[in-house]
Amino acid sequence: MMNERERDRIRERLLEERQSSLEAMAEFDDRYKERLELGDDELTNYPLHMADEGTDTIEQEKEFLLASQEGRQLLDIDEALRMLYKNPEEFGACERCGREIGLQRLELVPWARLCIDCQQVVEEGEPEAPET
Ligand SMILES: [Zn+2]
Repeated sequence: MMNERERDRIRERLLEERQSSLEAMAEFDDRYKERLELGDDELTNYPLHMADEGTDTIEQEKEFLLASQEGRQLLDIDEALRMLYKNPEEFGACERCGREIGLQRLELVPWARLCIDCQQVVEEGEPEAPET
């Protein structure tokens, strides 16, 4: 379990990363705004299931952000910050196996939701033989 001071540190890291993501996206953001101004034709080409559920601006924005790596990272950072504020007690636990992600990993990847083992499983589809 992380203590309050450790959580503060991770929160600061998240805010830093968020800032640099936003800066990296500044150029992308201009193109994004242009795209929004393109109007209906462009926007109705979003996946159908979203239209069915009543696509709102936030969903569109999210979908568009997902198209870029920086955007995905920004969403992950926001999600981590939300978790940190709402459920600080649960922050830092792996979403898949429930074990501690670990402060060392969180300092490198403060938005990590999986421990390093689960991350590998998810990315590679199967567990890697532990190195000895
Ligand atoms: Zn795990």
